[in-house]
Amino acid sequence: MAKKHCPNCGGALNIHADDAIITCSYCGTSFTPDGAKMKEHYALAVNYSQGDALDTLKAYLVKVPGVADDLAEKIQLKDLSMTYYPYWTVTVQGDVAYKGIDRKATFRGQSGGRYNSIHWEWVAESGHQEQTRQIRLYAGPKARAEIVNYPIATRSRRYFNFEEVQQYTGNVLFSKVSAETARQQATQATRNMIFSRINRETEKIDDARETFKVTDQAYIHVPIYHIQFTVGGGKTYEAALDASNGRVLFTDIPKTTSFKAKTMGMSVIWFALTGVGAYLTYLAYNGQTILGLNPDFLFYMGIGMAIIPLFLALLTIYFGSRGTAAERAR
Ligand SMILES: [Zn+2]
Repeated sequence: MAKKHCPNCGGALNIHADDAIITCSYCGTSFTPDGAKMKEHYALAVNYSQGDALDTLKAYLVKVPGVADDLAEKIQLKDLSMTYYPYWTVTVQGDVAYKGIDRKATFRGQSGGRYNSIHWEWVAESGHQEQTRQIRLYAGPKARAEIVNYPIATRSRRYFNFEEVQQYTGNVLFSKVSAETARQQATQATRNMIFSRINRETEKIDDARETFKVTDQAYIHVPIYHIQFTVGGGKTYEAALDASNGRVLFTDIPKTTSFKAKTMGMSVIWFALTGVGAYLTYLAYNGQTILGLNPDFLFYMGIGMAIIPLFLALLTIYFGSRGTAAERAR
């Protein structure tokens, strides 16, 4: 950690060696370690109050299988805080003109609806792929996968307003990824997408002319609520929610004991049925049968009786054992 001073207001700053973009906690200015000011610094608006966040979480949780019907009344808030997480958004315009060869099949010697031979030949292939992509990259310190992979909604972005941010929290995380590294990663990601398309059409690329241009780059802070709660005391559960659009990034699921017992019992039953189905298939395979059924019919019936309950058993185990849930994009 090095002692530095804000180039804008002179306030003292605590900077870690791997901080790539620093936001002054006195005036809110963001700059690189060399002191260059970041102009394109945005934040998503806080559209959900703490109360809204808790209500939204409750409304989401009551729909999750396995929680008590009266969960909303039983939830007790233990802690609620907000953190601004840093992300980069980089828009990359990519253009690749390519020449290559592709294998094409020709069919020969048709007689009586059949081809006698398939002949492969190499054909010259050329084309042009153009794509513009907005790549989003998490830039902050180590965090849960749900935060790192969060597809932030950028439509409601507006310039980072320090007074506004301060109303909510002093917890603004710094970027560990420099503007240059973000551009490189976004360009690489766009390039990979374009080439995966070209590779579908061309077996071998001989020549490619590539142009990649960054048309927009922004540093964006996303306000995220961290919520800790209990269900009538006891175990502490955690959740995170986007303060700009109310999306639940993740939440622990407070499952009832009866749900756990029920799913356990159900999966035992499904597994038993799988066993019965497998046994019937085994009988039919050996030419035996039950209830005078046709062995061929019994064979397939047994397979069906084994596969369907097996699928249901696995589904039951999944819902019975998963500890966290996440909301899909709205
Ligand atoms: Zn400052």
